[in-house]
Amino acid sequence: MAANGEDDTFEEIDLDTRLRAVKREIDEVDLELARLTKRRKTLEQLREKYRLQKQQQSSNQLAQKDWDTDDFSWSPKVDRVLKEVFHMKSFRAQQLGAINAVLSKHDVLLLAPTGGGKSLCYQLPALVAEGITLIVSPLIALMEDQIWALKKIGVKAEYLSATMDKDVVNSVHKHLRDGDYESLRLVYITPERVAKSNRFMSALQKCYNSKKLALIAIDEVHCCSQWGHDYRPDYKLLGVFKKMFPDVPIIGVTATATAKVISDVQKMLNLRECLILNAPFNRPNLYYHILEKPADKEELYDMLEDLLHRKYRHMSGIIYTFSVKETEEISTQLLQRNIKVLPYHAYLESKQRSKTYQKWMGNEIQAVVATIAFGMGIDKADVRFVIHHTMSKSMENFYQESGRAGRDGKRADCILLYRFMDIFRLSTMSFQEYEGLSNLYSMVKYCINGNDCRRLLISRHFAEVWDDTHCNRLCDRCYFRDKAQLPEQDITPHYQTLLAILRRAETLQTKLTALKLVDAWYHKGSPKNRLETPPPLMDRYIGEQIVAFLIVNDFLKEEFQYNVYTTLSYIVKGSNFAPDSGIRFRPARVLRVPKDSLKSTMSNRRREPASDEDISFVSESGGASDGNSSKRRVSESGESTVTTNEHTSTDSVPGKDGGRSNGMKRRKKTTSTNPFESLKTEELDVEKRLSDIIEKEMDTRDKDNSQNEDEDVMFVPLNDEIIEIDEL
Ligand code: ADP
Ligand code: MG
Ligand code: ZN
Repeated sequence: MAANGEDDTFEEIDLDTRLRAVKREIDEVDLELARLTKRRKTLEQLREKYRLQKQQQSSNQLAQKDWDTDDFSWSPKVDRVLKEVFHMKSFRAQQLGAINAVLSKHDVLLLAPTGGGKSLCYQLPALVAEGITLIVSPLIALMEDQIWALKKIGVKAEYLSATMDKDVVNSVHKHLRDGDYESLRLVYITPERVAKSNRFMSALQKCYNSKKLALIAIDEVHCCSQWGHDYRPDYKLLGVFKKMFPDVPIIGVTATATAKVISDVQKMLNLRECLILNAPFNRPNLYYHILEKPADKEELYDMLEDLLHRKYRHMSGIIYTFSVKETEEISTQLLQRNIKVLPYHAYLESKQRSKTYQKWMGNEIQAVVATIAFGMGIDKADVRFVIHHTMSKSMENFYQESGRAGRDGKRADCILLYRFMDIFRLSTMSFQEYEGLSNLYSMVKYCINGNDCRRLLISRHFAEVWDDTHCNRLCDRCYFRDKAQLPEQDITPHYQTLLAILRRAETLQTKLTALKLVDAWYHKGSPKNRLETPPPLMDRYIGEQIVAFLIVNDFLKEEFQYNVYTTLSYIVKGSNFAPDSGIRFRPARVLRVPKDSLKSTMSNRRREPASDEDISFVSESGGASDGNSSKRRVSESGESTVTTNEHTSTDSVPGKDGGRSNGMKRRKKTTSTNPFESLKTEELDVEKRLSDIIEKEMDTRDKDNSQNEDEDVMFVPLNDEIIEIDEL
């Protein structure tokens, strides 16, 4: 026992030592494991890095090759198809490069502005390659247009949609399965369908197996990216193409060109190496101009009438506005003034929408008054003007929408009507959207910039480098260079006053909307909000620009609050502090549209020279504001004085109509001739449609909230004054 005991003790000691040794070793292994795991992570990161670099390198190598040549084996055929099938004389920037790269079976991302001719970059290779081309496109209307145009030139193209005739769907599937590209060259489909239809995917697989799937094109490819301005969830499933059909080249095209979006798109589509082609975004034939939007509706309609009847007489265009209700109201008003326009928005039946679109395409109407529903894929070459009745919700949107003008390369005008209060109509809509507010604020910055060429501002936004020599005086800032500028000011004292007003409101336990804040500053509205200090001397429109500037630069901030009916925006102090050097701001001066802006006429119409006169929206247009218009002269200090012709400015008469309409002659509704011979009665019955729409329109898009009502009552505009600039 003793011996055993001794043995036990001995073994115990031995086991303890062994245990410790083992534990030590385990610890060492753990350490080593931790080291290796760490190393593994580092290596994985390196692998990703080198993979990306390799991808970048091969993309760069791809980019170094000169694609823009005609010494490929298919070049003679490419040239023939361009001329004989598409009836075009030559290629536009980056078209030939994209076509050659795709025909060499490389993946391509093509960034080109609206109207740059992106569709040709997949339509033409589709006719050169021996196989079927699949095009993913976000909208049926967009597909219909392209297919209609392709069929007209004898190309066999179809699309698949839920409402399609069964026989057509069956035959498309059959041709796909058979890889019968003689019977079917291009198939258009929405991303939603790609995601949902097994039948379609299996037909596509068969087509691929027989090596007859020539090309996959993805239109509006920025919809893949959450960074893009119209992200579509189903687009992210398109990554499946590269996995299932690795040998088929993919071309993605878009007019959105920010670097973030592009790298995101590449990842979503699983494109390893791809040629990125960038066509210049500058649209040298577009003239950019910002006008002050009248607060008084009648005056606003007069302004639009002036533009459409005189300046753009017999020319085709688009008026973009914010809400469905506005499209209907503005069309009604313009129709009553003998201007042929029709509304276009998402609440119209699709039949009605396409009818309106066709009438516009055929120049039976002069313009559509539309929400952004009138969007992608509009293909009218001779759009001479795009008027933004309300600013867009982002610069991307503005660029795309205004870019629908002048696709034929001829001079066209992009006019934006800016109004301070519109900021808050838009912000209360978009503050919950991803990047919604910062997108909107970029748009506001563009509008209130009194300093820089509009083109320069657009190019900066798209991270391109143009300088204002690219502008060729085709923007209001450059056209009126010297005359356009007001002096820069230090607005810190104004900022302090505004903060004092906000503090006062706080002690009264009230919150101020932007309107009430500006009212209080100008000693209008509720007396309890006003300070003892006198109101500013400068025009209210400059004061409003200052408040807008302070908001978009975070010296002031919008705070949003829901109530039962709507969302309200209140102004509070922002997180920026005034620097010692002061807050420098140069207000923008409102200018008239110059007289030499447009000379051409609507192509399908009888020709009549465009009015040569300047458009002056109020006093000279005969009727808009009869004899008592006041003219604003802006002094060198940036503060303006108002001189009136007959009686004093109505500036100080708040109340219903803002005291404005007393002196205003309402325009007589002209009924003598019927210029709408082509418009059917049901289309003219806008009043009825309007009431239907208003009933339907309960969604958040259109908020006639108390803030806006306020606005009509309290807002005292100054816009029947125009800045006088000699020798226009
Ligand atoms: P986007 O880039 O906006 O998709 P589209 O492909 O719709 O532009 O093309 C815009 C217009 O330009 C169309 O009417 C098209 O026929 C025309 N177009 C495209 N390429 C050329 C070209 N090389 N020569 C003449 N017209 C062209
Ligand atoms: Mg397009
Ligand atoms: Zn310019």
